[in-house]
Amino acid sequence: MNIKIQNLIKTYGAESAIHIDTLHLEGIHTLAIVGPSGGGKSTLLKLLGTIEEADSGSLQVNSIEIVGIKDPKAYLHEVGFVFQHDNLFPNLTVLQNVTIHLIYTYHMREEEAQALARKWLDKVGILEHQDKKVHQLSGGQAQRAAIVRALVTGANLLMLDEPTSALDPELAYEVMMTLIHMKEETDMIIVTHELNFAKRFADYYLFVEEGKILAHGPMEELFKNENERIQDFVNKITFK
Ligand code: ADP
Repeated sequence: MNIKIQNLIKTYGAESAIHIDTLHLEGIHTLAIVGPSGGGKSTLLKLLGTIEEADSGSLQVNSIEIVGIKDPKAYLHEVGFVFQHDNLFPNLTVLQNVTIHLIYTYHMREEEAQALARKWLDKVGILEHQDKKVHQLSGGQAQRAAIVRALVTGANLLMLDEPTSALDPELAYEVMMTLIHMKEETDMIIVTHELNFAKRFADYYLFVEEGKILAHGPMEELFKNENERIQDFVNKITFK
């Protein structure tokens, strides 16, 4: 993916949530957005996904200008989302949750949609649960179903906002391993506090604090960054 930012501003009332002067990233495959709570990570992800609208400035994703985008539909065909909670339809089965969008929005034939869905459910290791209702799944299985639902329409950029923070450690691990295995399938941007996971998962990091990008670079460099604030954050999160 490519991301280009110029003077990007997003405020909520009087409060500045994002104020990024300039950023130019090219050829990134997996991007981790990290930093302290309230720093603006989610807001930045929402701007990237057109869920929130910037006040001003320029934000380009894969050469598409997002600020003031007139027809986000075409862009959103390329983008999938996974949130902290799975947001699946509880009264539908896993297979129905994954196919509903394909059948009703993309007008795919039911058998074709199911075949495609099964292929993806197999990739994330939950094919055997395809006929279960969501409440019969573990949190980790539900989150893996949510990942499939986000990708099955052909998204080539997946955005994930703390997808494991509501899960028990073992289930979180399951989802993190799934994401690591899915790295070849699509570009991904993830907001996460799981730095050990990010180290294995992401090519590149953005450290966001007080609405600004305090540092960015190849993922492994986060752990060598000499900025005191960043070192302090990394030490706390990794419990050093
Ligand atoms: P992070 O994801 O790093 O925890 P957020 O992007 O959620 O940070 O928040 C950045 C700042 O914007 C915080 O001060 C937060 O309180 C504020 N904020 C986020 N969303 C809203 C909202 N919908 N309304 C008002 N303020 C918000």
